[in-house]
Amino acid sequence: MSKKTPQPVRGTQDIFGAEAEAFAFVVETFERVRRLYRFRRVEMPVFEKTEVFARSLGETTDVVSKEMYSFDDRGGESLTLRPEFTAGIARAFLTDGWQQYAPLKVATHGPLFRYERPQKGRYRQFHQIDAEVIGAAEPQADVELLAMADQLLKELGIHDVTLHLNTLGDGASREAWRAALVDYFRAVAGDLSEESQERLEKNPLRILDSKDPRDKPFLADAPKIDAFLSEEASAFFAAVTSGLDAAGVKWVRAESLVRGLDYYRHTAFEFIPDEGSASAAALGSQSTVLGGGRYDGLMESLGGAPTPAVGWAAGIERLAMLVGAREEERLDVAIAVEAEPHSEVAISMARHLRNNRYSVEVVSTGSVKKRFDKAAKMNPAYIVSVSDEAGEPSRGIRSTVTDEVLDDAIKTAWAYAIN
Ligand code: ATP
Ligand code: MG
Repeated sequence: MSKKTPQPVRGTQDIFGAEAEAFAFVVETFERVRRLYRFRRVEMPVFEKTEVFARSLGETTDVVSKEMYSFDDRGGESLTLRPEFTAGIARAFLTDGWQQYAPLKVATHGPLFRYERPQKGRYRQFHQIDAEVIGAAEPQADVELLAMADQLLKELGIHDVTLHLNTLGDGASREAWRAALVDYFRAVAGDLSEESQERLEKNPLRILDSKDPRDKPFLADAPKIDAFLSEEASAFFAAVTSGLDAAGVKWVRAESLVRGLDYYRHTAFEFIPDEGSASAAALGSQSTVLGGGRYDGLMESLGGAPTPAVGWAAGIERLAMLVGAREEERLDVAIAVEAEPHSEVAISMARHLRNNRYSVEVVSTGSVKKRFDKAAKMNPAYIVSVSDEAGEPSRGIRSTVTDEVLDDAIKTAWAYAIN
């Protein structure tokens, strides 16, 4: 047997300490905010049949063609570790009869898997928070979903990212725009990057997303969606933007924002750090923190009835990077057992305090003389020393803050413990 310790899988992370605190803060804040907007919590499987993602996202997308963790299980069925939440939630909507709850607002969070080149802010197992409104065709749904994203970012203390907003129009607008883009890029195909040449046939909208310097010169003059929007699609977008203004959500128009996946219609958006901001510095080139849009076409690609829907997802790691390191919450009470026979007093007191929502550490091991100093090192608001006077437990308190309520709680806990 080899004695070498197995190493972690490339692109996975073990999150600990201040970073884990930041991660938890993101999730807790999301849980609080989604309740304000009455999004219902769902828990979804980590894997699905491969076709759930292949059919929803489209075979030509980067995620399906290059990034999925797919495998045959022992029964020979092709399964895939979820690379995103939306497809699985859409599948559940159809297979679990969630249509009866429409319009359905759901939220979830958890790990996702994509075979990507790992770098700062980009992992093979990463985590997202996710919110979806299914069965709502009105622009108000888009507005509410975006207002929730905006409030979440603010409550996380992130004020230097801005909503970049675009519309892809309805199916017909999108197709007309797509055809115009193909004509335009075909004329200069020889000068485009290999990747964009490939996209020209399969997924031409994605060329607009290109960061390759060879493509950049052609992007500014590419046809714009606005020229192809049907009247209905324009009215829809206008209702979204005026709703955002009313909700106090700042936004900028991003005419070449397309989002990678095939299923998007109408509203498409990303929250991106402002140029030169602290958040931009923290994230480096991995700049989108939250992205999503309307996916009215998705349910049909899974064999369901046409169902309008809109959603977003945000990387928890990227949000945590913007939140920055967070200290663990301060300890309320450390109890140092400085007289061995009375350690039960400490246990009983700790139980009483914890039942009243105070955090407690009990120091009752190691050299008796060093326990008080050990307790002090934990930097608690109060240190309670349990000592001995003629065989009876006695109590000494040292506090570093004045908190009468906690003071009283300690007195009560003491009385409880010695009786
Ligand atoms: P990118 O352009 O950065 O690859 P994407 O368009 O693939 O992002 P989405 O599928 O929209 O991303 O996922 C939404 C969010 O999830 C992203 O904005 C980002 O915060 C996060 N995310 C996506 N892929 C990763 C990854 N590999 N590692 C960490 N976070 C990720
Ligand atoms: Mg990606």
